Amino acid sequence: MTVDVRLRLAAGRAVAAERMPYLRVALFAMTPALTTAVPTSAVDAGWRMYANPAFVATLSVDEAAAVWLHEAGHLLHDHAARWAALAEPAERHPLWNAAGDAVINESLRQAGFELPVRGVHWEDVPGAEPGMLTEQLYRLLSRGSTPDPDDCGSGAGGPPRPWEEPGGGVDDGRAVLIRRRVAEDIRAAGDAPAALRRFADETLSPRVDWRRELRSVVRRSRATVAGASDYTFGRVARRAAATPGIVLPALRAPRTFRLDLVVDTSGSMSAARLGRALAELRGITGALRGVAVRVICCDAGAGPPRRVRSVGDVVLTGGGGTDMRVGIAAAAGSRPRADLVVIATDGDTPWPGGPPPANPRARYVALLVDGPRPGVPEWMHEIVIDGAR
Ligand SMILES: [Zn+2]
Repeated sequence: MTVDVRLRLAAGRAVAAERMPYLRVALFAMTPALTTAVPTSAVDAGWRMYANPAFVATLSVDEAAAVWLHEAGHLLHDHAARWAALAEPAERHPLWNAAGDAVINESLRQAGFELPVRGVHWEDVPGAEPGMLTEQLYRLLSRGSTPDPDDCGSGAGGPPRPWEEPGGGVDDGRAVLIRRRVAEDIRAAGDAPAALRRFADETLSPRVDWRRELRSVVRRSRATVAGASDYTFGRVARRAAATPGIVLPALRAPRTFRLDLVVDTSGSMSAARLGRALAELRGITGALRGVAVRVICCDAGAGPPRRVRSVGDVVLTGGGGTDMRVGIAAAAGSRPRADLVVIATDGDTPWPGGPPPANPRARYVALLVDGPRPGVPEWMHEIVIDGAR
C-alpha cells in the first residue's frame, strides 16, 4: 500500500514535469512526506509536500500531477512571504489561501489539469476577473464571503503547522534561485499558461521605477522616429530598379516627435497620483527638443474630447464612468498622427481590441496611475505607478 502510494506520487511528479517542463526545477526541489495529519495535501515553507496516503491512493496519475502543481504554485508565487507582507489578522488566512488557490488553479486549468476535488477558481470570487493578483482576489474575498478551502500549509502563508516537520528543506535563499530559474524556463518555453507567464515577468523584471520606465519609453520612441526620418529608402527603392545593385537612401529633415496624452478625467481617478504622472510627463517632454504634445481629456463618451494646450492645463471633471476607447480613437484620428500615445488612467475602462486602424503604427502606453489593474491589452506597453512611490 505505502509502496503503491509512493509510486503514485512519484508518477504524478514525473507527469507534471513532463507536461510542464519549465516547472521541473521547482517540482524536484520539493520533498514529499506522507502523513495522515492532513486531509489531502499541503506544503510547508521549506518546500516539503505533505500528502495523506489514503487520499493519494484515490488519485489517478494526472490528478496526482495536479496536486504537485498546485502545491508548487504556492511556493513559486511566494504566498507565504506575500501573506506576511500584508500583516493581516491570522484568522483571515483561509481567505488568502483561497485567493492563492484561485490564481494557481487558473493556470492548472489552462494547462489542462483538474484537481481531484474542485478547488477555488476566480469565478467563485464575487467581482473577480481572470488575471487578478492574489492580493486583489483576497481584497474581494475580504468583503464578506467565507470560502473554506483545505489549509495548504505554511507554504501558503502563516506560522508552521503542528504537523509540519521542523528545520531543513529549501531555505529562502535557495527558493529565490529556484523561482528565478523557473521564471527563465517559463520565458524560454513560450507556451506556459498566462498566470505563469505573469509570474515570470514579475520575477525577472521586478517593478522598475515607473518614472524611469516612462522616460525610457518616451526617449526610445523618439529615437526611433528621429532615426527613421533622417534617412528613407521609400522613394529611392522604386528608382533603384533602373540601376540594379545601387540603392541610395534619401536624406530627409528630422521631423517633430508627436506625443498624444489621453487623460482619464473620470471621478474614480486619484487626483494626487494623476498629478504626479502629469508632472513627470511634463518634465520628460520639456527636457526634449522637437516634441509636440497634445492632451485629450476623456471620461465616459464625453462627446468630442477636449483639447488642452499643455499637460499643465488638465482639469479633472469628475463624475460619470470611463471609456478610454473614445479618447484613444480621438487621438488616433488626429492629424498629424502621433508617434506615441500615452493613456493615463486608473484602468477602470474598456480597452480597444487592437491598435486603432486610424493610427496603428504609433506606440501605445497604458499608464496605470492607481496601481496594477488587469485588462490592459497585450499590444500596449503597460506602466504601473506603484502606490509606494
Ligand atoms: Zn492551495
